[in-house]
Amino acid sequence: MPVENYIYDGQNILEETDEFGTLQASYTYEPEEYGELISQHRGGKTSYYHYDALGSTRQLTDDTETVTDSYTYNAWGETIKQSGTTTNPFRWIGNVGYYFDEETQGYYVRARYYQPQSGRWMTQDPLGFVDGSNLYLAYFVPNGIDPSGMMTKQACEDFYSVVLERDPQSKALAAELKKNKCDIPKGICVECNGGKAGGGYSDKDNSIAICYDNIKGTEKEQQGIFILLVRHEMIHALDTCKGLPPKTSCVQNLCLEVRAYSCSGQCNYEDEQERMNCIVQGAIDSTIAAGECKNSEVKKELQKLKNNKGCFCPRNCKVPVDVPVDIFPGM
Ligand SMILES: [Zn+2]
Repeated sequence: MPVENYIYDGQNILEETDEFGTLQASYTYEPEEYGELISQHRGGKTSYYHYDALGSTRQLTDDTETVTDSYTYNAWGETIKQSGTTTNPFRWIGNVGYYFDEETQGYYVRARYYQPQSGRWMTQDPLGFVDGSNLYLAYFVPNGIDPSGMMTKQACEDFYSVVLERDPQSKALAAELKKNKCDIPKGICVECNGGKAGGGYSDKDNSIAICYDNIKGTEKEQQGIFILLVRHEMIHALDTCKGLPPKTSCVQNLCLEVRAYSCSGQCNYEDEQERMNCIVQGAIDSTIAAGECKNSEVKKELQKLKNNKGCFCPRNCKVPVDVPVDIFPGM
């Protein structure tokens, strides 16, 4: 492997040299932090970058504006088509400095390393929970999110199948459903017009409704919320599939919600008290919103659940394996 040294200017790589300090390439950027990469000068030739809406390099042109190289990527950043022979590390999302490593086919993104084949970061986000409960997830919605910061219906529908395919827990839940001869619920993206509702599972038509207009935040935050929501509703689908006793009482409904909140990773706080509060509050809100419990009865009913291990999944449990099915003894 050839030695490469990088000379940085703030967040941007300005020059690359070899082990003898000989200049290999130099880069020109717009003059600002994370400023867009304009051109590369390498081997006596200058290449100019042309990006798509995501900031990925689609084409390189030379001094005469002739296209020398072109690239096509899938939604995860894998190069699926390429022409030209110019050495160029700035490809997918190259305009903000994603650095492609030819040998590993991965990307260096400053503090982290991203592997497009698996769609995951190889190290944890240094900022912690930015990616949701799974610190290694790196999801990119193919259709993006509208500038208002709200998920679009199209992005929601596309993302549902992506999550089932790529999120390890959702994938495991889907596999367990199949093993138990149940269909994977279809995802329906609906407008819920405010409120706290994230979504719901309907056993009548085996569908998961997702309130896409209530999912807000940055693209990453929305994806984190979305993944946890899908897991939550998939847990309900699996419980239904496994033929848990019909939900006839408030306490049984509370138990199912506690399972979904504690097994999905929605409440993965470090602090145990905080984790419990989150699970219990989530279960109370959900059952009251669905009309399954009365405000006045939830506190008393929750007491009955306290020592039921089938209702409370352990911290960092892996659904579906660690979740016992016999959960309503004596209820
Ligand atoms: Zn629920």
